[in-house]
This record gives sequence, C-alpha cells and structure tokens, in this order.
Amino acid sequence: MKLSLVIPCYNEAENVLPLFNKINDTFSSSDFSYEFIFVNDGSSDGTIDELRKISDMNERPVKIIDFSRNFGKEAAIYAGLRETTGEYISLIDADLQQNPEFVLKMVNILDENREYDCVAAYQEKRNEGKVKIFFKNCFYKIINKMADIEFVNGASDFRTFRRNMCEAILEMSEYHRFSKGIFSWVGFNTYYMPYSADERLSGTSKWSFLKLCKYAIEGIVAFTTTPLRISTMIGTLTSFASLIYMLVVIIQKLAFGIAIPGYATIVVLILFLGGIQLLSLGIIGEYLSKTYIQTKGRPIYIAKEITSNDV
Ligand code: UDP
Ligand code: MG
Repeated sequence: MKLSLVIPCYNEAENVLPLFNKINDTFSSSDFSYEFIFVNDGSSDGTIDELRKISDMNERPVKIIDFSRNFGKEAAIYAGLRETTGEYISLIDADLQQNPEFVLKMVNILDENREYDCVAAYQEKRNEGKVKIFFKNCFYKIINKMADIEFVNGASDFRTFRRNMCEAILEMSEYHRFSKGIFSWVGFNTYYMPYSADERLSGTSKWSFLKLCKYAIEGIVAFTTTPLRISTMIGTLTSFASLIYMLVVIIQKLAFGIAIPGYATIVVLILFLGGIQLLSLGIIGEYLSKTYIQTKGRPIYIAKEITSNDV
C-alpha cells in the first residue's frame, strides 16, 4: 500500500461521502494504491451509517474505527495512525476544507525528495476573524519563546509523512496529545507547503474560542515547564522586594521615628501576594493534574469496533 489516509470524523454525516468521492476523483489519474481509515469519534448524527455505506461500496480499501464515545480529534488521529499500513500516511479533515489536490502534491514532494520525511501544509492567509488570528499569533509567540522545539505558525495537522515518522508518533503514548507539538518533537525533516483552506462543506467547526484557549494551555503544559520556572522567578523577586521594603520600614521607624500609616499598603500587598500565590498554585495544579491523569495509564481511546472491507 502506498498511501493511508487517516480521516477523523465527528458529526460529519453529510461530508464523508463527498470527501470520499472527491479524493477518488482527484487520485483517479494517478496509479498508486491507497486506503481510507475513517475514525468515527463518537458522532451522534449518523456518520457511522454513512461510513458503513462507503465501506460496503467496496470501491476502495476502507477501514472504520468506531469509538465508544467522543475522545477528541487527537485521539482519533492516534487511533487512525495505529491502523495504517501505507508507506506514506496523510492526515486530512472530513469537512472538505482541505483539498485532496494538496495530498497529491505532498505525495509527489515525498516521492521526489528523499531528504524530506514529512510535508506539512500551512495556511499562508487564515480566513478567520481578526480576534482569533490575533490570539493564535500570540499563542505561537508565547509557546515558541517557552518551548525548545519550534511551533510553526499556521501549520495544521494536514500533512503527509513517511512510515518511520508515523512509528515515532505512535511511540509517544501520552494521554494529553497536542499534535502540533508531537510533530515537532519527533523531529524529522519537514517541508512546509503553503495552502489555503476552503469553506466547510456542511456543519460547523467544533472549535469554540473557549476550547481553543483550553487547547492552547494544554499545548504549553505538554511541551514546556517554563511557566513553573516563571512562578519561581516571580516568587523570588517578590520575596527580594519585600525584604528590601522591610529594611526601609525598620530604618524609617528606628532612625526617624516615623509611624507607618499602612492600611492601603497592607491591603494592596495582601491582594498582590495572594494573587501571585493563587496563580502559582494554579500553574502547579495544571502540571499536577496532567501528571495525575497520565499516571492512571488510561487508554487514549476505546474502539467499539474496527472493521475493514474486502477490497
Ligand atoms: N474532529 C474529531 N473529533 C472532535 C472534533 C473534531 O474527530 O472532537 C474532526 C472533525 O470531524 C474534522 C476535523 O476533526 O474532520 C477538524 O475539525 P473542525 O473542522 O471542527 O476543526 P477546524 O477545521 O475548525 O480546525
Ligand atoms: Mg474544519
């Protein structure tokens, strides 16, 4: 098998068949073998029935991994990767925002350039709201300052890579999966290919602003411990500053006999220090909770059923 296409699907009933057809149309002129690996991520809208129909058409090798509930896209990608057999592996969304033409381009680039292990598509121009773009840019700036690995702004998980990279990704069995970081962390030589995303064919994006914020924090916690160091630094600095202030107060009292009318100062200091303490505790808590979940060793996903057709 030359290419395995991994497609996570969450409530994409109206999109999966058009995607299947579009990929087949696009690939019709090329003569390599390819398989579909659909992951039904606990959809509630009949996606699974559509997927079974596609599989029963017996046009192409189709594998369906049916999750017992919604585990999230990251888990779906992991499950899909585990079932791949292709020399190359492509990740593509089910909503037709990513034109399969680009997959062909990625395959060609990998064919012609032995030195590249992965071709990742990145959006040159995001067609999203200005506020969202602003926060996304901020996120990339912050995480790149903090983490040792590089996060490429705009690079999505729409990418094609060789089997060795797939094996490396599967070796990373962490529960909280942040693919952007995982792709960078495993290394390999990546070629960044510009592309522009299309509109969703049907349905809405599953990413609300709040979900994106949560995802951003998860990324930071998963790939850098710098926030912990920052809270140590703030703690050291405030301790140092309060020591100096204490000396000032003692000198004022002893040398000049000035009584300190300190109500406002005390209130401000208590609030300030209380705030910093809670923030630091929160940061520690973030790391602790991730460690807690990870030590439970729960599976990343649970598949109700994994089926494949006879093609
Ligand atoms: N997806 C998934 N599980 C989820 C959320 C999303 O498998 O919990 C899939 C979804 O079906 C789609 C892809 O991940 O194929 C990208 O999702 P979406 O279009 O909502 O994200 P966006 O394109 O807005 O980044
Ligand atoms: Mg989408």
